[in-house]
Amino acid sequence: MNILVLNCGSSSLKFQLISTSLEQIEQRADRVLAKGQIERIGGAGLLAFQVAGSQTARSARPVRDMRAALEAVLQWIGSEETNIEGVSGLADIDAVGHRVVHGGESFIQSVLIDDVVLRGIDDCVELAPLHNPANIQGIQAARSIFGKAIPQAAVFDTAFHHTIPEHSYLYAIPYQFYRRHKIRRYGFHGTSHRYIAYQYRILNNIPRKDVNIITLHLGNGCSIAAIKGGDSFDTSMGFTPLEGLVMGTRSGDIDPAIIGFICEKEGMSVHEAEMLLNKASGLLGISGLTNDMRELIAEAEESGDRRARLAIEIFCYRVRKYIGAYLSAMNGADAVIFSGGIGENSALVRSKICDQLSWCGIAIDPARNAELVDGQEGVFNGEGSRIRLGVIPTNEELLIARDTVRLIKGVI
Ligand code: ADP
Repeated sequence: MNILVLNCGSSSLKFQLISTSLEQIEQRADRVLAKGQIERIGGAGLLAFQVAGSQTARSARPVRDMRAALEAVLQWIGSEETNIEGVSGLADIDAVGHRVVHGGESFIQSVLIDDVVLRGIDDCVELAPLHNPANIQGIQAARSIFGKAIPQAAVFDTAFHHTIPEHSYLYAIPYQFYRRHKIRRYGFHGTSHRYIAYQYRILNNIPRKDVNIITLHLGNGCSIAAIKGGDSFDTSMGFTPLEGLVMGTRSGDIDPAIIGFICEKEGMSVHEAEMLLNKASGLLGISGLTNDMRELIAEAEESGDRRARLAIEIFCYRVRKYIGAYLSAMNGADAVIFSGGIGENSALVRSKICDQLSWCGIAIDPARNAELVDGQEGVFNGEGSRIRLGVIPTNEELLIARDTVRLIKGVI
């Protein structure tokens, strides 16, 4: 089957067209046929489309809204000049799989979308006001173009974390706030952590229940998960994606009293303070330069910029603290697996994180670590390390495509 995977953001649409089926999943023979993205939806759109193995075609043109963006993608897929293996038009697309950020407590696994599900996703808007509306727009755009004949699936960022026990998902605030407003840890990046855990199990040929690992998704957004017996046991993002690790522009953990203090001192509204913590903090806020780790490392190395170095230091320190905390929380782990743009490509960040973890028997092989800089899978722990260290490139789109097929075939 050819599955169109959509990841719709507030002003962007990313897509992949993936060929997969139950047999292909079994043999791990599923393939990306084409991919691309449209940025700056609602204004002067930037389009970048690529057929697998070919050059990326870039262009710019106004893109009014999510529907117009999806139409542009489908026009490209169906156009005569675009030569996608086995796909000559819309009729060759069998289903659509959507990344949906928040599933609340209602959606604990991927589902086929019908009107009830759509209403359920809408009910979660107040939990994810920045994300779910864009996901809903994507679903509605796909529905209006394809009609209801083509199945659509929703794969939730929160779902994998539904197994987190009560003692780690509840905040120590008055319990009625959980009852009344569902304030609790939900966790995000679930599709990524789930994919990494699955891939770890396949690579090591072990049953799911034996997967006891710590997974690190270090990209623009960053989170860490403790995976115990194959299930998510704890994760650093919380009620929103703001909690936990230091990220590109997010602060991660701070003393919540800082928000009121900033509001008072800077004359900001709570909303403005929250935007500050989401958009102007993290690596960007500390360095005053950029949210991009690669650029920060270059800056630190080339000019010895003090604040670039500090940002990298704080970033790695926070990750290391969380690894220690999760090793305690889950009574030890067999492996720590790195993923995401930073985790997959930066030997420097990985080695800084693993520094000072010898107390728990973690030892790194510097040469192997230095080799893993191109987003390839690999192991980089030293010979005697008590805990395995590895890199597993994440692939959320593939998991969304696979879930879509499995839902259609009734095996979820
Ligand atoms: P997203 O979370 O948006 O999917 P990515 O997973 O692509 O983002 O991660 C983006 C981050 O990865 C950026 O901070 C980028 O600088 C960083 N990154 C990519 N390659 C490298 C590299 N070689 N060294 C250090 N950081 C890198």
